[in-house]
Amino acid sequence: LMQLFRPLDLLGMVYRTIRQGLVDMAAMFDLIDTPAEIVDIPGAPALDSALPSVEFQNVDFGYDPDRQILHGLSFKVEPGQTLAIVGPSGAGKSTIARLLFRFYDPQGGRILIGGQDIARVTQGSLRAALGIVPQDTVLFNDTIGYNIGYGREGANQDEIVRAAHGAAIGTFIESLPKGYDTEVGERGLKLSGGEKQRVAIARTLLKNPPLTIFDEATSALDSATEAEILDTLGSLAQGRTTLVIAHRLSTVTHADTIIVLDRGRVAEQGSHRELLRKGGLYAAMWQRQALEREKEEAQTI
Ligand code: ADP
Ligand code: MG
Repeated sequence: LMQLFRPLDLLGMVYRTIRQGLVDMAAMFDLIDTPAEIVDIPGAPALDSALPSVEFQNVDFGYDPDRQILHGLSFKVEPGQTLAIVGPSGAGKSTIARLLFRFYDPQGGRILIGGQDIARVTQGSLRAALGIVPQDTVLFNDTIGYNIGYGREGANQDEIVRAAHGAAIGTFIESLPKGYDTEVGERGLKLSGGEKQRVAIARTLLKNPPLTIFDEATSALDSATEAEILDTLGSLAQGRTTLVIAHRLSTVTHADTIIVLDRGRVAEQGSHRELLRKGGLYAAMWQRQALEREKEEAQTI
């Protein structure tokens, strides 16, 4: 009987491994249904991505034909600059990240990276140029070292350790009895939301992409850890083009430009100071969140 079970065990393991991979991709992009088939055009060149600008030109997009999510969306990020996208939940912020990875094609308009239409370059070169720290990081059932090293094939131990420290998780890992060989995930050590996010940041540090997207990357962190990570994000943004999607406005005050997205449209645009002075949506959100912060602080005393 045991012999009969063994192949099933193996199958179960293979199945779990595949499923884990799928779960990881799905969680990265909140993909619920399978996107439509996206193929490279014949003879598509690679994306030339030294230090790219990013531009949305009049982008119309909906997951379903009867429900448009982005309405003629336009914005531009200059090479090496940081653009923050803020706005209520459901406004379409993560959708912008999914379109940049070309998991979907827009129904109207164009998306340019470094002046090249992303629909006309190879998907491989596009995805190699992009790094994302997603909203929810799902870990592989493997060692924590593997989970960080996954950011770049062939990374050596030194590089993994440096990335871990860059993401403020190195000291924690080194305090574990098995260090970087500690098993994590379903059957290993359970990491907190904040720790998982730091693993994702370490992966991105290792990948070192010219264009980086943080999708609410600090939303699961407490204020102290957030402050620590913000320093890291600041240094990660140096010398690369960065998109920061954020719900907590305290994380975007230093962005070169902030756009407030509301129901798939740019409602406001400017620097933190400009938007506060304007006294519109952003200023109202800022005031509301400042009150919440005060309440939180009063509670912790
Ligand atoms: P945000 O990140 O600003 O909270 P999203 O970009 O994730 O918002 O979603 C924008 C809208 O698109 C939401 O109404 C959401 O329900 C919808 N949406 C997101 N993903 C899908 C999908 N895969 N299929 C259909 N609708 C989706
Ligand atoms: Mg989102």
